[in-house]
Amino acid sequence: MILIQYFFPTYNSYPPYLRSEKSREGVPVQKSGQMPPQNFFFLASLCEKNFIMSKIKITFPDGNIREYEHGVSALDIAKSISEGLARKVLLAKVNDKVVDATRPINEDASLMLLTWDDKEGKAGFWHSSAHLMAEALESFYPGIKFGYGPPVENGFYYDVDLGDRKISDEDLRKIEVKMAELAAKNNSYIRKEVSKAEALKYFSDKGDEYKVETINELNDGEISFYQQGNFTDLCRGPHIPNTGFIKAVKLTNIAGAYWKGDEKNKQLTRLYGISFPKQKELDDYLKLLEESKKRDHRKIGKEMEIFTFDDDVGPGMPLWMPNGGVMIEQLEALGKKTEEEAGYSRVRTPHIAKESMYIKSGHLPYYQDSMYPPMELEGVKYYLRAMNCPHHHKIYDAVPRSYKDLPLRLAEYGMCYRYEQSGELFGLMRVRSLTINDAHIYCTEEQFEQEFKAVNDMYLRYFKIFGIEKYVMRFSTHEPKKLGQKYLDMPELWKKTEDMVRKVMTEANIPFVEVIDEAAFYGPKIDVQIWSIIGREFTLATNQVDFGQPLRFGLTYNNKNNQPETPLVIHRAPLGTHERFIGFLIEHYAGNFPVWLAPKQVAILPIADRHVEYAQKIYSQLKQHRIRVDVDDTSEKIGKKIRDAEVKKIPYMLIIGDKEQQEEKVSVRKHGEGDKGQMAMSEFVSAIVNEAAIP
Ligand SMILES: [Zn+2]
Ligand SMILES: [Zn+2]
Repeated sequence: MILIQYFFPTYNSYPPYLRSEKSREGVPVQKSGQMPPQNFFFLASLCEKNFIMSKIKITFPDGNIREYEHGVSALDIAKSISEGLARKVLLAKVNDKVVDATRPINEDASLMLLTWDDKEGKAGFWHSSAHLMAEALESFYPGIKFGYGPPVENGFYYDVDLGDRKISDEDLRKIEVKMAELAAKNNSYIRKEVSKAEALKYFSDKGDEYKVETINELNDGEISFYQQGNFTDLCRGPHIPNTGFIKAVKLTNIAGAYWKGDEKNKQLTRLYGISFPKQKELDDYLKLLEESKKRDHRKIGKEMEIFTFDDDVGPGMPLWMPNGGVMIEQLEALGKKTEEEAGYSRVRTPHIAKESMYIKSGHLPYYQDSMYPPMELEGVKYYLRAMNCPHHHKIYDAVPRSYKDLPLRLAEYGMCYRYEQSGELFGLMRVRSLTINDAHIYCTEEQFEQEFKAVNDMYLRYFKIFGIEKYVMRFSTHEPKKLGQKYLDMPELWKKTEDMVRKVMTEANIPFVEVIDEAAFYGPKIDVQIWSIIGREFTLATNQVDFGQPLRFGLTYNNKNNQPETPLVIHRAPLGTHERFIGFLIEHYAGNFPVWLAPKQVAILPIADRHVEYAQKIYSQLKQHRIRVDVDDTSEKIGKKIRDAEVKKIPYMLIIGDKEQQEEKVSVRKHGEGDKGQMAMSEFVSAIVNEAAIP
C-alpha cells in the first residue's frame, strides 16, 4: 500500500516539496513590458496560424466538440453554455493543465471546467484565499514578508515573517473580517508575466527577501505575478477569477514553520485557514470539525488505552497496548479468514533485506528518501523494508512455476518502516512503522479480470462489515504519449488491464473517477477513499497493477506450451494498514466498537458483595466461550459501576442482584442504549457468542 500524497500543479508560492512535475502551463498569454524574442516569434507564428484558421476546436469531457473564436477563455465558453455554469467556474483544465479560467485558449484543446466540486477547483480556491489573507495581513502589518502560501488538504496556509510583531487568536478574527471586506470588492486575480529582473526589482524594493530568494531559483521567462486589489504576489497560478467567490473564511491555527522546512533557517509564522463559496458550507465544516475533535483517534486512543507513543521508542512508532492488541488480533482474524476463503496462501518474511534486493526492486535509489538509512553487517548493507513486495517476489521465484500454479496469492500482515518527516507525522495516520494487510497476486493476463474482480468484491465485503457507505475509487491511468518515458512501454498491456479494471468497476457499480496520466510507472492504480460516518475522508489503500516488478525480478512461469512467460502482479491491501485503519475505525465508531472488535465485550456488575460469587460463575462461563469479560467487584454503588463501564465503552453490562442470582438470570444493559431487560444466562451466552464471532 502506498499512501497517496495530494498533488496540485506548481505554484511559485508553493514549497518545492509540494510541487509536481506536470505543471508547466503551455498556454501563451499576453505579456506586459518587454517581450523576450522567443515569445515574440511564438506569438507571431500564432497570429500567422490565426490568419489561416481563426476558429479553434474545443473538446469537452463527454467527447463533444465545439468551435470557438481563437483566444476564447474557459470562462467565455462556460458563459456560452449557461450563465449559471459560468458563475460556478473556478479554474479550467486545458489539455490536462490546470489554468486560470480567464486565460485565452489559442489552439485546439480539450477542456474541463473546474468548480468547487473538483479537487483542483477547491485547491485553487484555497490558494486564492491565501493571497486574500496576505492582502489583509499586509493592511494590518506593513512590511510583513511572505514565504510560501499553498493550499493544503483542507484549506490553505501562508508562512509569514512579522518581524518583532506577534499574532494572537484575537487578531485572526480581525483578519477574517478584513478578508470578508476585501473579498466583497470582487477584485480580479490578474496574471502578469514579468522578467526576472522586473520581479527581482519589485520584491527587492519591497524588502521581501523570501520572494527574492524564490525568484533567484526560477528561470527568466517562467515568472509571473498575480495581483488582486492592492496586493501583488509572485505566483505561477492558477487562480480563481475574482475574490467575490470567497464568501466565508475561518482562520484556524497559528503555528511555527522554518523557512523551506529547514531548521537552520529562520522560523516563520504559519497561519492556517479555510474558506468556502457559501456560509453554510463553513458552518457545516465547523460542525464536522467539532464532531471530529470529539472523535479524534489520538484522544480516544489514549482514553481507551489502545495505543501510545514513547520518546525512547521514537516518533511515529506506535506501541499497541493490550486493548489495541485485541483489535489487531481481531482485524487479522477477519483478514486471514477472508483471504483463506478467497484462496490466498500465507507467508512470513523478515523485516530487513540486503541492498542488492532494493537495487533490483528499484527502491534504491528512487525511494531511498522514504527508507531508513542502512545498517552494515559483515560488509553488507541491510535496509529496513518499506514494502513487502520484494520479499514476496522472492518466494514466488523460489521454485519453478507453471501456469497450473497461477493465480498464486501470497498474503502477509507485513510490517514495514518508512521514513516520514517528523513534521508530517500525525497520530496513527502518518507513522514510521506500519503493518500492512498485504498480498500479492501473481496471475496470467487471462486471469487478471477475475482476480481484480475478486479483490474488488473483498473491498465491498469489508465496507459492508464496517458500515462504510461512502467510498470512491480513484483510477489512475497512463497517458499513451508518455509511453517509454513516464510509463513502461507496453501499450497493449496498459490498454488491456485498464479496460478490464474499468469494466470490473463499472459492472460492480463502484463509484470511481478516472484520472489520466497519474498511473504508476509500471501499471494503473486505484486509490481507495472512504468516508467515516461523520463524513470525514480517509485514504484507505492503493491497489496496483504491476507489469514492471515481475520483469525486474525475472519472474516467470511456464505456459501450456512450456514456454516461459512473465506473470502480472496485483498489489492489494483492502484493510490498509493497522495504524491507519484503526485510526479510521476509532473515529468512525467514536470508540463504540462492534462487539466482535471491542477490546472488552462484557462488564459484569454485581450490586452487592453477596452477588460476587454468582458474578464469578458467569465470568467463567463467558470466558469458556472466549468472551472478553471483566467483573467489577469493587464496593462502589451500582450507579457508579454502570457509569464506569459506559465510559470504557464496553458493549454489554450484566447487572447481578438477588433476583438474577436466584433465577440464574442476568439483567442486560447495552452501552449507549440502556436497559434491555432480564434474560436467562444461557440465552445471553448464545447471543453474545454470535455477536462476538468474526464476521
Ligand atoms: Zn498564487
Ligand atoms: Zn506490493
